[in-house]
Amino acid sequence: MSFATTVTAGLRALAGQARPDEPGYRVFNVALKRRITLSPCLSRLVFGGPDVARMRTLAPDQRIKVLFPGPDGLAPTVPDLPDWYATYRTLDPATRPPMRTYTLRQLRVEAEEVDVEFVLHGETGPASAWATHARVGDRVQLVAPNRAHAGDPGGYEWKPPQVLSDVVLIADETAVPAAVGILEDLASRRDPPRVQAFFEMPAAEDRFPLTAGPWASVEWLSRDEGRVAHGARMIEAARERARWPTEGAAKARPPKDIDLDRTLLWETASRADRGTYTWVAGESAAVMAIRRHLVGERGLDKRSCSFMGYWRHGKRND
Ligand SMILES: Cc1cc2nc3c(=O)[nH]c(=O)nc-3n(C[C@H](O)[C@H](O)[C@H](O)COP(=O)(O)OP(=O)(O)OC[C@H]3O[C@@H](n4cnc5c(N)ncnc54)[C@H](O)[C@@H]3O)c2cc1C
Repeated sequence: MSFATTVTAGLRALAGQARPDEPGYRVFNVALKRRITLSPCLSRLVFGGPDVARMRTLAPDQRIKVLFPGPDGLAPTVPDLPDWYATYRTLDPATRPPMRTYTLRQLRVEAEEVDVEFVLHGETGPASAWATHARVGDRVQLVAPNRAHAGDPGGYEWKPPQVLSDVVLIADETAVPAAVGILEDLASRRDPPRVQAFFEMPAAEDRFPLTAGPWASVEWLSRDEGRVAHGARMIEAARERARWPTEGAAKARPPKDIDLDRTLLWETASRADRGTYTWVAGESAAVMAIRRHLVGERGLDKRSCSFMGYWRHGKRND
């Protein structure tokens, strides 16, 4: 970035001005500042750098892209251009920096810090491998909302109606960062709704302390109890543990299953159904099974449920 551009951006930030012609998202250069272990499977990585002062987040499930060092091990250097993605696509897939989707867990603009919580699922993927071994000072790039953009850049699905009585959150470990952010968001309401949260984690030791009020019941469910497959506890929670509205259900129409090998399962809620707003995210096949049950068998209004496949078993997620 030229000196003139930097100065203009700095002045604009100081003046609190946002411009519609600024891109909604931009590329941020950050370095790892510290690591906080939340549980054996989940680590919070705190990234910092002057660029972070220009970042923005709009919701607790704000999604961002993380660009990791490529096969040469060097920090990624994707140029910060409005059409960064077009540029990225022209790079050789064999050598370009791997890119994955994550949740912007927390942003502290003043401190120039941003938190991303990584599931450490082993060395099979570049993101998990990098997060496992990263040391303070290691650099990545984040593609995240741009504070200088005047409009709503999107990239989040938590848009609950102002008036609602019940929220159901069902998440596996990849969606726990967003779901915990949602609990924090609800806690800031004057009159929070009743919340039932079900968090599936690999093991009992993966639960960690949360600050939720008496309006929230949080159940941690672990796969190691009974050694069940990924997603089984989420499905069980939807079928057997959660309380759903029973009266006045519309006639159930089974939703058509999606071919998860070709299509991303991504349906988002626009309203509540009999006061209940449902947010489900995690492994795609598990989320689809929950969708089948809630919409097809229980007759929940599809428009009251977000069903989001955050990753797919056996498939790379770039
Ligand atoms: C909107 C959104 C927000 C997300 N937020 C987060 C977040 O905050 N934190 C987070 O950790 N993840 C998050 N994810 C999920 C993350 O993008 C995927 O888990 C991603 O595949 C990880 O990349 P990787 O390079 O480690 O593995 P990949 O190279 O994508 O996959 C390699 C192999 O690992 C498997 N795999 C991928 N993820 C997991 C897992 N969690 N457990 C077991 N096996 C896995 C794949 O099926 C594949 O077989 C989010 C996804 C979306 C769409």
